[in-house]
Amino acid sequence: MTKFISPLAATLVPYVPGEQPKDKKYIKLNTNENPYPPSPKVKAAIESELENLRLYPDPDAEKPREAAAEYFNKVLGLTGGDALTKKNIFMGNGSDEILALLCPAFFSGSKVAFPDITYTFYPVIASLFEVPCVNIPLRDDFTLDQDAVKNLPDDVAGMFLCNPNAPTGAAISLDEIKAILEADADKLIVVDEAYVDFGAETAVGLVNKYDNLLVVQTLSKSRQLAGIRCGLAIASEELIGVLDTVKNTFNSYTLDRLGNAAACAAFADVEYFDETRKKIADTRDKVSAQLSELGWDVIPSKSNFIFAQPPAGSATAEEFFHELRGKGILVRYFAKPRINNRLRITIGTPEDMETFVGAVKEMMAEHAK
Ligand SMILES: *Cc1c(COP(=O)(O)O)cnc(C)c1O
Repeated sequence: MTKFISPLAATLVPYVPGEQPKDKKYIKLNTNENPYPPSPKVKAAIESELENLRLYPDPDAEKPREAAAEYFNKVLGLTGGDALTKKNIFMGNGSDEILALLCPAFFSGSKVAFPDITYTFYPVIASLFEVPCVNIPLRDDFTLDQDAVKNLPDDVAGMFLCNPNAPTGAAISLDEIKAILEADADKLIVVDEAYVDFGAETAVGLVNKYDNLLVVQTLSKSRQLAGIRCGLAIASEELIGVLDTVKNTFNSYTLDRLGNAAACAAFADVEYFDETRKKIADTRDKVSAQLSELGWDVIPSKSNFIFAQPPAGSATAEEFFHELRGKGILVRYFAKPRINNRLRITIGTPEDMETFVGAVKEMMAEHAK
């Protein structure tokens, strides 16, 4: 290790994203990407923005913030004091960047809590900002221990709550979120809704009611734009103001020109969004039923992936992972306590999933011999 490394950098253990292999074409069911292309309107918006690329983008990303506020007000029926304006919205270079900015904005000098089984980026980003973490164990069936969440230790400033959770796909209701927000008004509850559009209830409509709520969403999953890097935070004007200050001390231009154009068009094309997310939810329910039929334990999912355990007497999840890879199908396997006999399977097109289920059946027949 180089002698120039800082003591902090020497302690860091980086996040490991799902692989993006370059050796051949796989059916990619390993990184929760959307199997459908972006809306044709997004493509057109990006094309017409190309000629402006010599100019810096709007550092305040006003247009996509307005487009997002308009979308939420319309679909959630928000009016009066509940209605959102662009001042309730923050745009980041992917929601991972927003999760990072939240640490210096709200958690530095304190601690942050999150479940033991959740998005593994939370501890990584907390370590970069030297924020100690407090683990809240999920119950044996991977549901949230509401009592533990409502009684966070005094020295914890807030928590990351992924809903639906990753990698389980399980969701909690809006009433449960409200109860958590009301249990302790002094804790900032960050609800990471990366997968909410596939079937869970969003808390976005509550941000002008609860000043301890900050919702994070992304265009990477339900809006087919993982390659653009656009995420958003939705919260009270005061919380968004702090995020803005932190952003402007680090990188003023979080969203580039193509991102600004793509985000506006994506929020405006509600029809395409609704059509594609419904297709994914339908495919998910079908594959969940098929795997259950084959004896797999499938956690009921409200996201665009399922988290499933093979039946006893068949191969282990790790063996399925390797054999599926050999057949050109990538899924995600986590060699971690409590979840090391499960696979996280992203929902692809109906054709992708037919191939996947066919491969699973073949392997199960092989292992039964
Ligand atoms: C994918 C994901 C994100 C990050 O998305 P970006 O591509 O950075 O916007 C955030 N949280 C969870 C739980 C995710 O799965």
